[in-house]
Amino acid sequence: MTTNTYAGHTYGNGETPAAILANLEGSQGVNRTETAQLRLDAAASWNRAAADVKARTGLEVWVRGWNRTYMEQVTFYLERHTPAAAGDRVCCRWNGRGYRFTGTAHAAPPGTSNHGWGLAVDVVDFGGVGQWNHPRRVAAFPILAEHGWTDTEGRSAIQEPWHLVYDPARDRHANQAAQKTTPPAPAPAPDPEGDPVQIIRRASDGAAFIVTAAGAARIVNTTDLTAYKNAGAREVNLTDAGYAEAQTRLLH
Ligand SMILES: [Zn+2]
Repeated sequence: MTTNTYAGHTYGNGETPAAILANLEGSQGVNRTETAQLRLDAAASWNRAAADVKARTGLEVWVRGWNRTYMEQVTFYLERHTPAAAGDRVCCRWNGRGYRFTGTAHAAPPGTSNHGWGLAVDVVDFGGVGQWNHPRRVAAFPILAEHGWTDTEGRSAIQEPWHLVYDPARDRHANQAAQKTTPPAPAPAPDPEGDPVQIIRRASDGAAFIVTAAGAARIVNTTDLTAYKNAGAREVNLTDAGYAEAQTRLLH
């Protein structure tokens, strides 16, 4: 069995441990009523990327496909494929058996999908099978690509413009995701007589960055944050969406 290793966890496809999954911000699904999860780095990237798309194009992007368990992939696959009989065109194989395609869009054989690694999304309203010129996709994809989202797999035989896969090596904003795990550069000693400093804080988890009167913005750790507070910095608590917006506008 193929396995992946991430953050000290080794697991099979469709078995990504809960400990390394994170929620996407906002409600997802076709009707925006569902909670979606991806692997930690992919989730952080998607949240930044969606905020970036919103800030730069005004478009909201959300997803109807995300991390899938093995059994969910089995269900998808069997909705769209039937064991092939003699003479049928075999489109794919699973567990040594040939299948014919009966759906309108493909599903990878269980155990082989990037959805099973928590690294793929299916974006809502990004064009139909083989339709690569949907305006929402044309506007949003180049920005998503800056954040590591690739369409190579979608452009293969499956021809799915909505199916994107996260590649951490292509994420040009990945360092922004490290705020919880990587210590930021040391902050200068706060100077009560100096520039007024504003703390932009995400209410849900306390992630924060500071903005000086001169406009410089920098992520700070908890110790530095306390020092800034003690020095009289004003704190602004934001919702997840507001924080993402502020990050996009101020931290770039
Ligand atoms: Zn997909």
